[in-house]
Amino acid sequence: MSSGGASAPPAGPRLSVDLDAFAENIAAVRARVSPAELMLVVKDDAYGHGIQTIVARAVAEGVRWFGAFDVSAAVITRAISGPESRIFSWLTVGRREIAVALDDDIELGVGDAGFLDDVAAVAAARGGVARVHLKIDTGLHRNGIRPEDWPAVLEQAMAHERSGVLRVVGVWSHIAEASDEEDDTSRAQFDAAVAAAEAAGFTIGVRHLAASAASFARPEFRYDVVRVGAFCYGIRSAGGPSEEQLGIRPVARLTAPVIRVDGDDATIAVGALDGLPSLLAGRARVTTSEGARALAEVGPTESRVQGWPGAAAGDEVVVFGAGGSSATDLAEKIGTVGEEILVRVSPTVPREAV
Ligand SMILES: *Cc1c(COP(=O)(O)O)cnc(C)c1O
Repeated sequence: MSSGGASAPPAGPRLSVDLDAFAENIAAVRARVSPAELMLVVKDDAYGHGIQTIVARAVAEGVRWFGAFDVSAAVITRAISGPESRIFSWLTVGRREIAVALDDDIELGVGDAGFLDDVAAVAAARGGVARVHLKIDTGLHRNGIRPEDWPAVLEQAMAHERSGVLRVVGVWSHIAEASDEEDDTSRAQFDAAVAAAEAAGFTIGVRHLAASAASFARPEFRYDVVRVGAFCYGIRSAGGPSEEQLGIRPVARLTAPVIRVDGDDATIAVGALDGLPSLLAGRARVTTSEGARALAEVGPTESRVQGWPGAAAGDEVVVFGAGGSSATDLAEKIGTVGEEILVRVSPTVPREAV
């Protein structure tokens, strides 16, 4: 697999992660959503960018809230971010993992009555007070307490608060961000749920509803905290405003070296096993030193770039990121979203913070 050059880098793909671009995106998002606070979403290994480096830089930039999805990512985030940060995890898990979360002062998203009782039971057994954010289902039907069950769950939560094992610190939901009308309906349900919780005697310090798209475009969706992943990583929404309009730029850049040249075609060392979707063959272009060229074939570990007679072994091609297409540009060719292009990049592809 060596390209033969004495000082050539290993002949494989690399994902470089531009931490200054990340810091600038964070600043752009915060300027936009202020006075709401940013909760940086770091699920899926920080959207494939590498959770350790991302959390460390975010802390250096003053980010105080992290959204970790699963407990193991939350624990990593706690280890890196220190005791001051607030970490929210919303995957429903078993009692063992609840205990792990509570040991690390992780706040839990609770979207059903049984899980609420589990959290209370674990907190009671170990001592201390669990901090939970109740999730109202506002239409996505993706885990969440249905509006008709909300009053009963509030009563149940109040009983746990009175026994001192648990405190409801937040109310949250997740919206589709696909149509303004549907989102407005969700927001009305959300407001009703918060009002009911306050009427029931809870002090709801943290209300959060919006992810990237709504937090940017719709001020009334920002509440206290916005949960943003994509825009902080410089990933625009498919079919949405450009990076320029959003004031963000891609953080990750996937490159691959040329390993062979056959006539007008060049073979590059990246393929489907590295996470490059094979559906991109014949649909996408990669960026060479001589401009954009067609990605004609995607094999398991190698791909063919067509129409590049000037190529030489060792030349670098930008698959996505600075100087090339964005991840969302590629995603749009195959009907998916930029996040998917990023999270598919195999963990075996070296990440390099720059
Ligand atoms: C992934 C996720 C987010 C972040 O969404 P982006 O569009 O990447 O900003 C927010 N909230 C929840 C519940 C999520 O799962």
